[in-house]
Formats: sequence, C-alpha cells, structure tokens
Amino acid sequence: MTRTAPLFTKVALIGVGLIGSSLAHAMRRGSLAAHIAGYAPSEKTRARAAELGFCDSMHATPADAARDADLVILCTPVGALQAAAEAIAPSLKPGAILSDVGSVKTAVIRDVGPFVPQGVHFIPGHPIAGTEHSGPDAGFAELFDGRWCVLTPVAGTEEAAVTKLTEFWRGCGSRVEVMDSKHHDIVLAITSHVPHLIAYNIVGTAADLEEVTSSEVIKFSAGGFRDFTRIAASDPTMWRDVFLNNREAVLEVLGRFSEDLSALQRAIRWGDGDMLFDLFTRTRAIRRSIIDAGQDTAAPNFGRNVKK
Ligand code: NAP
Repeated sequence: MTRTAPLFTKVALIGVGLIGSSLAHAMRRGSLAAHIAGYAPSEKTRARAAELGFCDSMHATPADAARDADLVILCTPVGALQAAAEAIAPSLKPGAILSDVGSVKTAVIRDVGPFVPQGVHFIPGHPIAGTEHSGPDAGFAELFDGRWCVLTPVAGTEEAAVTKLTEFWRGCGSRVEVMDSKHHDIVLAITSHVPHLIAYNIVGTAADLEEVTSSEVIKFSAGGFRDFTRIAASDPTMWRDVFLNNREAVLEVLGRFSEDLSALQRAIRWGDGDMLFDLFTRTRAIRRSIIDAGQDTAAPNFGRNVKK
C-alpha cells in the first residue's frame, strides 16, 4: 500500500538489534515514519547502526531518542525493559503510544506499566518472527512479512491507539491479533519457549555425552540434531530473560511435557509400536497444517541452502 503521509511523525526504537533494526527497515519500506530515532547502550552498536543508516538519528540515552516521539517501541531484552521504561518516562509526550516487542507479556505489563505517564497509551506487543541472529546487522525489512504480531492491551486502553498500532504492524507486513497477556504467555510457552528449552537441553546433553566425542557430534549431526543446534544458537541474554519472566507458564507446559515424555519412554520400553506410530502420524499432520497456514516451507532442508 502506498501512503500519502507517514503514519507517525517520529518513531523511537529503544534497542536496535535484530528486531529493532528490522522494524526500522520495514518502516522505511512502508513509509511509516517521517523520522526514526534509535538508541543502543553500547558505542559499538550505535556506530554500526549509524553506518548502516536504518535510523535517521542515533542517541546515547533512551530519553533523548524517545523525546517528542509519537510511537516508542522498546526493543531490548525483556530483563532491561523496566529500566528503559523508567529512563524514558519523563520524555514521553502526551498522546504517544508506548509499545515493546518482548517475547513475554504479563511480566512486561508488571515491569513497564508503573512507569507509563498519564496520557500515554501503553500497548504491549510481540512479533512472532525472528531468527537465531542478533545485533544491528541481523535486521531485514521482510522479517515480519506474513508473521503474526500479538498485541496485549490492558483493560481501558483507548481503542483508537490499538487501531493505530495495528495499522503500523500491518504496514510492517504483519498480521495482527489482540489477546490477553496471560493467554499469550501460555501459547508462547508451548509454541516457542519450551521448544527452545528442549533444543538447549538436547545440544547440552550431546555435548556432555562421554561416550561420544564432540567431533563425532559435529561430523554426524544429521537433520534432527542440526536443526536443534540452530535453535540452541539463539541469543543467551534474550532467552535467559524469557525463562526468568515466563516462569509459571513454562513450568506448567514443562510438567505436561515431562508426563508425555514418560509415556513415550514406557512405549519404547514395552515395545508399544502402535502408540509410537499413532503419535508420529498425528504430529506429521500438524507439520502439514503449519505449512498450509503459510508459517513454514515444505522445501527440502526447511528451505535453507545446503553447502555442497
Ligand atoms: P538483540 O539483537 O540482541 O538486540 C538487543 C538490543 O537491545 C541491542 O540494541 C542492545 O544494544 C540493546 N540492549 C541490550 N541490553 C540492554 C540494556 N540493558 N538496556 C538497554 N538496551 C539494551 O535482541 P533482539 O533479538 O532484537 O530482541 C529484542 C527483543 O525482542 C527481546 O525482548 C526479545 O524477547 C524480543 N523478540 C526477539 C525475537 C528473536 O527471535 N530474536 C523475536 C520476537 C521478539 P547493545 O548492542 O548496545 O547491547
């Protein structure tokens, strides 16, 4: 869609790593902001972001970046959101929308909510899109295309602000869904957080196996293990913060997961092939429906290039 005027006059990105820089690229592509201001704590990231040029201005403090912005998006690890919110609070202008991209939502409402000044619309958000890469070089405009972005406004949030943020995410290529933060956290625990924990665990276990040398793990890493290593390469800070801040939902899903794993263990021990076959048939159908929903590709090797 071509726009006659940008949706926002000034958008501030507090954090310009994978998600922040991708947002900047997507905003440029969609002409969504007349000015994009960025902040990162390290001089190195600020210098690199300035070099890449996806922001119109880079700032050494979050308050400077957020000043006079119509939309401020916190794009830091979840554990840093509270301090960022506290730092920008005095420079947020009345009527501005404050949002974030954190992978958990109830803890973000708890941490950021108390610092939101009267007259500022706080609408937490989470784009369900990402890669295992981080930093300002990792971003690209197409990251959000066709992906869902979940907004979790608290009760009493002005509808017009939610509509405007929805338009923003649609302009970045996303599909948008609004849901309660607790529901978001349990859905993401099962679809993203626990799968990441399983990947971290299996790669850790393989690395610790004394009977198998690490060179064999690398040499014979066929499909299954190799795909786990890709997930287990995800950013340690981000994922530490996700588990510390979505503790209840993750523990609930893990409890259920452990029970189901024990049932599988029993089926293998007692030679219950029917149970294994039934489960694998059901899970194959789930994979099919994910592809049909356009959330992944059926191409060999998950669409990645194979080095010959
Ligand atoms: P990233 O690439 O590591 O970027 C993080 C950014 O935050 C960097 O600009 C970093 O600046 C800054 N930052 C780090 N610590 C900070 C602190 N204490 N105070 C202020 N700024 C700080 O991370 P990302 O993948 O973009 O993730 C950002 C957020 O998006 C996280 O909350 C994550 O949960 C969420 N998310 C991630 C994904 C994903 O797949 N990666 C998907 C959806 C949502 P420096 O470089 O200067 O340290």
